[in-house]
Amino acid sequence: MKNIVFVAHCILNTASKVDMYTQNEIDREEALRKQFVRKSLENSIQLIQLPCPEFTLYGCRRWGHVSNQFDNVFFRNHCKVILAPLIDQLKEYLSDPERFQVLGFVGIDGSPSCGVDYTCYGEWFGSFEGRENLDQTLKTASLGKGSGVMMSVLKQMLNDAGLDNLPVTALFADEPQKCLNLLD
Ligand code: SF4
Repeated sequence: MKNIVFVAHCILNTASKVDMYTQNEIDREEALRKQFVRKSLENSIQLIQLPCPEFTLYGCRRWGHVSNQFDNVFFRNHCKVILAPLIDQLKEYLSDPERFQVLGFVGIDGSPSCGVDYTCYGEWFGSFEGRENLDQTLKTASLGKGSGVMMSVLKQMLNDAGLDNLPVTALFADEPQKCLNLLD
């Protein structure tokens, strides 16, 4: 029996991430990411990489965003298109339960796209140039309960396919056990 977990793209490829400057946060997430990947390998769990919706839309020079900016029909449609082949792969593995078991999905809490239990919110839009209240605008960003946009689309697609019984959790340094427990 092969056990399979679908993971956010940057759990296997951190090159896709937005450049960050909060070293303590980066280090904590990186330590948990390594622990998660190590445990997956030790437990012979197969990892399938979900697409990165931000890299495939905005590339490697994108700014950091908040989920309010991505919560629009165009970004959601992009997520649907890139997730569709993964849902097909999922269905194919589920069609042979004697050989394959899908344990669930792991996103990245805090991400505007891949957060599962937490995402980031804020009133961000418009040009930075000549703006008098930029500091105030940037300060509106905060972590809050809720899904990032791609994970919300993924949950809807699972629901539409009658597969909403599959666990969807996230890598989150403040709650490390929730992703590690999926691998037990
Ligand atoms: S959009 Fe998702 S996969 Fe891409 S870098 Fe952000 S958290 Fe990782």
